[in-house]
Amino acid sequence: MELIDGYDRVATDLRVSLTDRCNLRCQYCMPAEGLDWMPTEETLTDAELIRLIGIGVEILGVRDVRFTGGEPLLRRSLPAIIAATKALPSNPRTAMTSNGLGLKHTAVALAEAGLDRVNISLDTTDPDTFEKITRRNRLHDVIDGLAAAHEAGLTPVKVNAVLLRGINDTEAPDLLRWCLKHGYELRFIEQMPLDAQHGWTREAMVTADETLALLAEHFTLTGLDGRGSAPAEKFLVDGGPHTVGIIGSVTRPFCGDCNRVRLTADGQIRNCLFAREESDLRAALRGGASDDDIARRWAAAMMTKLPGHGIDDPNFLQPTRSMSAIGG
Ligand code: SAM
Ligand code: SF4
Repeated sequence: MELIDGYDRVATDLRVSLTDRCNLRCQYCMPAEGLDWMPTEETLTDAELIRLIGIGVEILGVRDVRFTGGEPLLRRSLPAIIAATKALPSNPRTAMTSNGLGLKHTAVALAEAGLDRVNISLDTTDPDTFEKITRRNRLHDVIDGLAAAHEAGLTPVKVNAVLLRGINDTEAPDLLRWCLKHGYELRFIEQMPLDAQHGWTREAMVTADETLALLAEHFTLTGLDGRGSAPAEKFLVDGGPHTVGIIGSVTRPFCGDCNRVRLTADGQIRNCLFAREESDLRAALRGGASDDDIARRWAAAMMTKLPGHGIDDPNFLQPTRSMSAIGG
């Protein structure tokens, strides 16, 4: 069985949200007061989560498992979940998307558990701008977390940045310079309409074209071919060997090549970030369904995957769940 959809795309990249909770409050993700977190009894237990990951990998052809959230480092059993994933006979590749807070203390344990690499979110290296965006004064923690990840061999260490007009957009070249100096691979992601407070506007979004223009004032960028199903368009910086990635999720969508599927912390399958429907695997799991039964439900959930996110459609509606509850 495989996770094929009605447009012949096959999902092999599973994004698992471990929690919807977070210790930052990034403006483009959630409001200052946070959100009503998911009740514990609705959240998958470690055993349930590991069983679903196992079904994805062993029955449905998943090859890559990425742990995300919310903030995945807030799940204390993270090393055990990683180890159980890595122990699956098919040995999937593992990665984590994290804000990096506390990673300084856990990077080695995560690497030993079998985590292959990390993407750390960092939008600026200026402490004031960091606090403005995340509403917390924790820049030093992220910087320490990045260094610890690099040292622990969770490489290539990638940095995810979202540019906000009038806040950190003009800092883009500085951020790239800083990442190059430390050996981190920077990728700029266009802001998407997935914030809980529904504040996204097209005008405020810094587009991929604008980002490239900002960078081109300071660096020579040479486009590389072969994006494949990877969302980032890569550019050599000043002749290489270092690169920078641009993820134009809105203006340069990669939906036609999408190979992703998402599992939320409460056991719902989402075939797209922007899906308006979910399939409830937790109910099946807790109702006593067999692995094959669950796999069939999961495979069926892929058939409603739409050809694209439809943000440009006048009838576009933002999904009910916001980014931190979906698992970005
Ligand atoms: N808390 C972790 C972190 O920030 O890396 C993992 C979850 S976070 C939702 C995953 C990624 O989504 C982060 O890189 C974050 O910058 C990005 N993100 C959040 N809201 C976004 C939005 N509205 N548009 C684009 N990217 C967004
Ligand atoms: Fe938390 Fe990540 Fe959302 Fe920022 S982007 S509030 S770190 S979940």
